Order: sequence, then C-alpha cells, then structure tokens
Amino acid sequence: MKLIFEKSIKGRDGYSLPQDLFNEIKIEECLPEYAISKDKKLLSEISEVDVVRHFTKLSKLNYGLDDGFYPLGSCTMKYNPKINEKLASLSNFVYAHPLAPEETVQGCLEIVYNLNKLLCEITGMDEYTMAPAAGAHGELTGNLIMRKYFVDRGDLRHKMLIPDSAHGTNPASAAMCGFQVVEVKSNEKGTVDLKILAELMDEDTVGLMLTNPNTVGLFDEGIEEIEKIVHDKGGLLYYDGANLNASLGIIKPGDAGFDVVHLNLHKTFSTPHGGGGPGAGVIGVKKDLIPYLPTPNVAFDPERKKYYLLDAGEKSIGMVRAFWSNFSVLLKTYAWILSMGPDGLFNASETSIINANYVLAKLKKYYKPAYDRYCGHECTVTGREYKKYGVKTLDIAKRIMDYGMHPPTIYFPHFEPYAEETIMVEPTESESKEMLDKFVDIMIKISDEAKTNPELLTTAPHNTPIRRTNDALAVKRAILTYDDELKLKDELNYQEKDINF
Ligand SMILES: *Cc1c(COP(=O)(O)O)cnc(C)c1O
Repeated sequence: MKLIFEKSIKGRDGYSLPQDLFNEIKIEECLPEYAISKDKKLLSEISEVDVVRHFTKLSKLNYGLDDGFYPLGSCTMKYNPKINEKLASLSNFVYAHPLAPEETVQGCLEIVYNLNKLLCEITGMDEYTMAPAAGAHGELTGNLIMRKYFVDRGDLRHKMLIPDSAHGTNPASAAMCGFQVVEVKSNEKGTVDLKILAELMDEDTVGLMLTNPNTVGLFDEGIEEIEKIVHDKGGLLYYDGANLNASLGIIKPGDAGFDVVHLNLHKTFSTPHGGGGPGAGVIGVKKDLIPYLPTPNVAFDPERKKYYLLDAGEKSIGMVRAFWSNFSVLLKTYAWILSMGPDGLFNASETSIINANYVLAKLKKYYKPAYDRYCGHECTVTGREYKKYGVKTLDIAKRIMDYGMHPPTIYFPHFEPYAEETIMVEPTESESKEMLDKFVDIMIKISDEAKTNPELLTTAPHNTPIRRTNDALAVKRAILTYDDELKLKDELNYQEKDINF
C-alpha cells in the first residue's frame, strides 16, 4: 500500500475557496520567518475523496475485537457493549466543562462518587482515587502513596519485592519511586515461593506487589501466608488488579489483606484498549492510607445534599492528573457495573474462568501446559515440543494470523525452567463455545503443520497485507520524518502482498 505522501499530485487540493471573496495573501505575511518551512512540503497534495479512501482502506487493514477472536493473555480483550459508548457520548457528559461550577455538574460528580463506592464493594477496599490514567500510572500513584505513608511515620524503607511473574510495569513503577526492586522467584507451581519471600521480607522493605490470580493466570494458594509474612514485618501488600476478570464476585483483594489495589478499568470494565487510551488505572486503599490519596476526590455533603471536589489535605501525595481524569472511562465502567449487577459480574468471571480451562483442557495434548493445574481467567501452554522441528512459538503465533485470528500473548511469562516458549491464552467471557472450538481446531492444525511442514510456519504469515516484520527495528530505528520512512521502506524492500490500492 502506498503512503499518502506517495499519492501526492502537485497542485491537487482537498477543497477550494471562492477566489473573488478572498484576497490572496502571502504566507510570509501571516507567519514569522522561522515558522515557514524552506525545504520540503510536509503535507500531501491530494483530493478529499482520495483522503477518505486512503484512510478507509487503512482502517480495513486493522484487526480489532469487533472483527474476531483476540485471546491476548494478560490483556482481557473482551467485548465492550456498545450501549456504554453511547452513554459516554451523551452531550450532557461530553460538553460538561472540567472547570464548570460544582452545582452545574452534580450528575457527573455523583457518578464518580457512586463508582468509588461500587469499586470499594467489589474489591473490599475503603476508598478509591479515579485520578490515574492507566495501569502503570496507577502503580506509580500506589507506590507514591506507600512511600508517603512510611515517610510520614519516620520509617524509611528502600526495597520493594516483586515476583518474577509480575507485569513489567511493576518493577518500573517501583523503580521510578526510588525503590530498589528485589525479585521473588516463583516455585514449580508458578506461584510465590514462600521460603524465599520470608527470607527477603525485612524491615527495610516497603512490601510486595502481587496479583491473584497472578499474571500468568494461576491462583496463589499461599496468599494467607504471604499476607502474614509481609504484614508481620510492617510492610504493605499491593495488588495489581489490572486484570480483575477472574475475581469479580468471587474474591475481594481487600479481604485477602491487600492494602493498595489498582484496577485497569480499560481492561475489565468496558473500555476498548490498545493503541494508547484513554484508560483509567484507579487506585483503592485501606483506611490508614486514605489521607495519602491524590487530591482532589469527589465527596458528598449530606447537609447541603451536594457533591463537591474535596481537597485531600496536607498528607496527600498531591495531584497526579488534571481535573476529573478520564471521565468517559469512569462513565462506561459505571454503566457496565450497573447493567451487569452483582450476579452478572460473578457470571462474567465464572465464564471467563470456565472458558480458559476449556481451552487448556482441549489444547494440553498438543501444547504442554507450563503448569499442570487448573487456571484462572487465562491459561499458559508452551510450544516447546515443536522446537525439535525448528519451529518456535513465534512461528506458531504468526501462523495463527493466516487463519484470520489474532495470536495470543507469547513469551510471557519467560522464567525458565517452568516457563519457556510460552503461549498465554485469555479467551474472556465474551466468546462462544463455537469460537473457542474454532481456535482450538486452528491450534491443532498448526501443531500438525509444525511436524509435517515446518517451513509453512517459519515463513508465516502468508495471507496478511504485511508479511513477517522485523520486531526489533522499530525500536532501533525510529521513523520521525517522511524521509526516514521512505529510506526504510527502500531498505526493507517490503514483502507486501498486492492488495489493489
Ligand atoms: C496491562 C497491565 C498493566 C499495565 O496497564 P497499562 O494501562 O498498560 O499501563 C499492569 N499490570 C498488569 C497485570 C497488566 O495486565
């Protein structure tokens, strides 16, 4: 497919103005000299209809959740009901100004206030902040809250324990807060090794960042002991609830002793994600940590019967995000929770767990499970049996694309010896048995191809507009200008299929 710049034709315009109504003016009369480009014209000269066609075609090359199965583990790519998008685009919400006087936006504030209460109920926490705009931002906020808590008590602690199965953002967030990250090894069951944890946890340690079911979809049965080990040394337990899809209506992290919880509303709670947002990585805390929450928070004054923005006070870590954060995400979450109700939330998690275990049971003859046990909302299998045919898990993932599906997460987790060449499948509750069967059939077919015709896999994908890409190049050679792009395209000699553009 051609770039829009390559479609440029000199003198072609998207629109024209009636010449007799406007005096011609020179660009030099409108802009200072430094702002006028002297060399290349940066914009393509192209007609309106060609612009529309160009971008419509591009949009059709995209694969999203509304196209088909998207079983990306640790991502909860589930269907987001369209009614919630509709509610979030009602003009009363869209046009509410963040600086509007409180009495004119009582409805918006009420929603944020009520959502706070609902999330407390769902997770067993005492108070939430809606400020963080993503999971990693929530983690940073949670770490800042924990740091302030200890500094306030004159108890300076420097280390943060993080299991090797944790999402990569966990150690990054802790390090950004100035903590020294200490890795806790997993045992052969894929969960926290209690002996190692007990050895590492001391009075210089802030606590442990954990999730349960953990990031590879396994329920950590040692959670009671873990809680005791961390709290006995005065530490705090942080719950990475980015993927809460296995827990709704089943377990509450607050009841298991977690002090700080972050949720990715854009994963579990009805907001499409990927591609950069908007999201919401809200943080819930237990009573003792409420004073440290970011400011402001929405409160209710029973006397005036009014909602208002409450300054969180002098112990607060301050502001982490302007205004009401990503309000549309909060709105969709609120609508989704209310439309599901307590039973619906439970059903969603129950179905997502059953779906993952169904896939695991069907696949395990062909792809060895990383851990031979029941899973939570996602299952981890491996492609290591196929290495002897010269096929890597990456090749299996690429081949899935030929069958018109998005591949699962691969190479996560990656701690050997228990987990190598991993494939992590999170089907979510949205998918029907027929769709799961279709996926399983494709996987079985690919396992057969790996043995009989490995080259079909190592050269896959064959049916996609762009064939196998160089995974590392984008990081090493950022494309910042049109010239960079052309040069790279030349160098790579793209193996594009002719798709009639
Ligand atoms: C997605 C995810 C995160 C990070 O969330 P972002 O919104 O991408 O910053 C953190 N932890 C886990 C377990 C996740 O799955």
